[in-house]
Amino acid sequence: MKTYFLSLKVIPTKENENYNAVEGASANFWILENSPKNAFSKAAFYVSKYDWKLTKIETPPVETTRINFVGKDIGLQNFDKAQKDGIAMVFLGWSRDGKTTFGPTRMKLPYNFNLNNFVKKTKQFKNKGCCLHYEAGERCQEIVKAHSIQKQGALSMIAHNGHVYRLTTDISALRKNKGRVSFQKKGINDVSTFLGFCRMHDNKLFEPIDNYPLIPTNQQVFLYGYRSLCRELFVKENSLNVMESQLNDIMDRKWIKNLFSNFGRGTALGLKNLRMHKSIYDNSLEKNLYQNIKYVLFTSTQKPFMAFSGLFYPDFDFIGRQLQDLGNHDTALELITFCSAPMKSGWGFLFSWHASNSKVCDDFMKSLATMICEKREIGDLLFRLVISNCENHAISPQWWENLPEKYKEQIIETSSIGVSFFVNTPPSYLMEGLEGISNWKFENVITNVK
Ligand SMILES: [Zn+2]
Repeated sequence: MKTYFLSLKVIPTKENENYNAVEGASANFWILENSPKNAFSKAAFYVSKYDWKLTKIETPPVETTRINFVGKDIGLQNFDKAQKDGIAMVFLGWSRDGKTTFGPTRMKLPYNFNLNNFVKKTKQFKNKGCCLHYEAGERCQEIVKAHSIQKQGALSMIAHNGHVYRLTTDISALRKNKGRVSFQKKGINDVSTFLGFCRMHDNKLFEPIDNYPLIPTNQQVFLYGYRSLCRELFVKENSLNVMESQLNDIMDRKWIKNLFSNFGRGTALGLKNLRMHKSIYDNSLEKNLYQNIKYVLFTSTQKPFMAFSGLFYPDFDFIGRQLQDLGNHDTALELITFCSAPMKSGWGFLFSWHASNSKVCDDFMKSLATMICEKREIGDLLFRLVISNCENHAISPQWWENLPEKYKEQIIETSSIGVSFFVNTPPSYLMEGLEGISNWKFENVITNVK
């Protein structure tokens, strides 16, 4: 990551404890980030967090090195602090009476975010299971740790001594890595699990995909999609519960309330859509209408180094066009699921969507076909999609440990887009990036789409 310096002119808001004394200030930032735009978003966030309002950009983000600050005490000190903490800031203010100046001063946190409480609540909710099967009821006695990526097959195929690498976004790891995601080695028993099914329903429902390689039959394709959907629903419900319980504790601080309620609103909207999609799938499942699922499967005879299962609402496609507006609360969002699946020889990259979601999903797949026709590497296109849209994945230890540092760095950077408060998804996010890393080759395409 690079170190950006920027300077902003700010005025105190009414909530600011210096409001009566200070007329304005120059807020200087040293920020570790991967682009000037991200550095600016982060600085703007901190300005409002400390009860200031941005009025002017004095120095736009410039990339700096330590040499730029040698001999400048405050500059050097803060450059070094940014290397350690990811961000350093100094506010230099002038008073309303025009006589005194204040600063340089380090801002103290106006609200002491209770991290331990947050972590505790997240765990509590995560450990509360329920069966999401459409026939769930009294017979669902024993909630099990259901694997959203099969343990036998998909995970064991890439594991080394029972372990794989997976993305971690938990808050203590984020803090340790200056707000960036990281990859940790984990036993496959604990990877991709969620408490979303009882033993009976998990075994019975997913038998055709857990015990047989992907052929594909319509039923198998349906089940892969259904499982991605149930896992996402489980995870999103938990995160909304945690957020709601946090909001009750912090009603007094405006910035953090705004941050959480915006984030919560997005999660609630996503959840509302997920519930709707699940009821559509439930309905098809109940009537055995598996042909309602459309799919495109890319098959590869290579040995897989990665297993994944995810879904998203396509906002931008592979050629950068907007397909739907995720901020639009009035219309239902269309959903596509994707996963890797073990096949008789090799593995498959499977996209699937319910026929009722064809408006957006067909266009999304057409944009992929366009890129392939233009001789773009299909392996790059699909790998980029997984890394930027799916946190539910596992990577082979041999592959990850032998990967050049610069590729690891690129993967971490791309994975961080999805989890950062500060970065909006750019329209071109599926168009470029992560070239030449996966070396995935696909020999065939199997589809039921005309
Ligand atoms: Zn059940």
